Amino acid sequence: MKPISKIAAGVQASTTLAIDSLFKQMKAEGKDVVGFGAGEPDFPTPEHIKQAGIDAIENNFTKYTPAAGLMQLREAASYRLKADFGLEYAPNQIVVASGAKHSVYVALMTLCDPGDEVVIAAPYWVSYSEMVKQAGAVPVIVAAGEAEDFKITAAQLDAAITDRTKVFMLNSPCNPTGMVYTRAELEAIAEVCCRRNVYVIADEIYCNLVYDDIEFVSFASLGEEVKERTILVNGVSKSYAMTGWRIGYTASNPELARVMGNYLSHSTSAPSTISQHAAIVALRGPQEDMQAMKRAFEKRRDHLVGRMNRIEGVSCIKPQGAFYVMMNMKSFIGKSMYGKTIGSAEDFAHLFLEKGLVATVPCTAFAAPGFVRWSYATSLAEIDKGLDRLEQFIQNA
Ligand code: PMP
Repeated sequence: MKPISKIAAGVQASTTLAIDSLFKQMKAEGKDVVGFGAGEPDFPTPEHIKQAGIDAIENNFTKYTPAAGLMQLREAASYRLKADFGLEYAPNQIVVASGAKHSVYVALMTLCDPGDEVVIAAPYWVSYSEMVKQAGAVPVIVAAGEAEDFKITAAQLDAAITDRTKVFMLNSPCNPTGMVYTRAELEAIAEVCCRRNVYVIADEIYCNLVYDDIEFVSFASLGEEVKERTILVNGVSKSYAMTGWRIGYTASNPELARVMGNYLSHSTSAPSTISQHAAIVALRGPQEDMQAMKRAFEKRRDHLVGRMNRIEGVSCIKPQGAFYVMMNMKSFIGKSMYGKTIGSAEDFAHLFLEKGLVATVPCTAFAAPGFVRWSYATSLAEIDKGLDRLEQFIQNA
């Protein structure tokens, strides 16, 4: 047999999947495991949005749509970007894809040639580096630690850019850190991107989940030149509890939008028509359900962070957005727990699942060794259960 594609073979299996499949297996065996791994809201999709999906089926909106999405949906996304961030995008600058992940993928495929470099601000969402590799490009990781609130500086970005750099990947609010870049930080980053002539993919999927009255700044709003070189990524998954509907979108200059539309026309043809109709209602309709979910997330964050920082041996900084907390577990590295030496966050997370019956996500693959990610997209009761178990897990080790 001839070898398979070098590009495909170079893509890593998700390291978080191993722990997730163990979690699911334990659950199937009837074990009382608690999960903090999920990257999706635990709330159901709001009723009026679900109804729009049902109506779409009943009205026979069950055929293909244009590759870049229904014009009404592109208009709805354009309306939302204007209403929320004052951004002016004509509907032909919006391209709908099958989830924000797919939007990032299409953006990378559109911008990158083999050998191009893509700078990724780390800690980062694990799919970015693998999607860059799928495009034949090279991920260049620029990392910030806990002491820097997990945010890279413009100077770090400047130093990482070479003649081969095509794109900078920005994610604010960030998965996994929950941190939000300030206006001043983004302005400095934007200056570097313009001066060094790189595109920016700004993944703003968590834009509506920002707490403590902190300002969310959409990167493209920082000026015309910045907007011209930015592919803004957003979607309905996190804001409207619609992860399973698979609708994301990009906003970009018209030429990039045209090429992305062409790319999509030969891959997915278009996202699900039914989901597109539901997404129109999500973006145009009342936003109160989203606000209620946000308040619930904020309450859970406060509770989780407060209790976690009172547990001996672990700590976390308070995230400002999204629904993740980075638990620092470095004090256990090199120590023995339950007869095993803890060498990494993976070892800790595996043991915590096995002995403590709690699933979390080790962050080594997110370029944050020594951290374990907890998602608080789960009830306060479950959060307490998880933290009670963490206390016992540490005490009994
Ligand atoms: N970007 C980030 C940073 C994410 O965390 C996620 C979901 N985990 C996505 C994009 C993908 O969203 P979607 O479900 O719309 O593909």
